[in-house]
Amino acid sequence: MIIDVHSHLGEDCVFDEELDERGLLDAYERNGVDGGIVQPYLPRIYMEDHVAIHNRIYELTKTKEKKIWGMASINPHFRPDDYDKEAYRCIKELGFVGIKITPIGHATHPSSKDAFHVWEVCRELKVPIMIHTGAGIPFSDPISVEKALEAFPDVTCVLAHAGSEMHNQQATYLARKFENVFLEPSWVGVIGVSNMIKQVGCTKILYSSDNVHNMPVELAKYRELIKNKDDLDNVLYKNAVRIYNLKI
Ligand SMILES: [Zn+2]
Repeated sequence: MIIDVHSHLGEDCVFDEELDERGLLDAYERNGVDGGIVQPYLPRIYMEDHVAIHNRIYELTKTKEKKIWGMASINPHFRPDDYDKEAYRCIKELGFVGIKITPIGHATHPSSKDAFHVWEVCRELKVPIMIHTGAGIPFSDPISVEKALEAFPDVTCVLAHAGSEMHNQQATYLARKFENVFLEPSWVGVIGVSNMIKQVGCTKILYSSDNVHNMPVELAKYRELIKNKDDLDNVLYKNAVRIYNLKI
């Protein structure tokens, strides 16, 4: 089985990207991926646009073609009452399994006051927080997450892109130091991923595509680097099932 913990749907007004339901499901089929956790491409900064893309993802979770779960992504600078209302709706009513902060897209330092509110919501709702790291320094430098990690040792944190190619040493450092930190190394080169495997092991690393054209590339990295089947299964789906409490 293969589960992708980080894919997108919709139209992104920050990164100028776009993907529809058919494009995602077909890519999963082409690559032998059983499904994934889908989050919004970054919508415009109106709550109604956030609600609309979350609803669209919720509709996709009902498909019989693949196993799809939702992840909420809400701009942390909305008023806390508005933020909470949509976060609770996504997790409690739509059954979403996590919440994302994209520091570069949300203009949010991951240890800032508004980000701390998101961490508190994740703690209350008992879902992992995913934080984009890599592109968008200094907010997206994995080290920017450290202060929050010290304050929230009970909130599971997945570092999306694990710092990417330039900053994966910092992400690996955090995953070694904090029990609740996991790495999702999409876009990290094979040498960086190889170092991660040596330093934190395969129980802390999660497969993801982030982009449909990157799906086979990411799979090739792990299949080349990990020869033990149990280790590979951990990275390809078992860690995701455990961390996000997925029913498969
Ligand atoms: Zn992404």
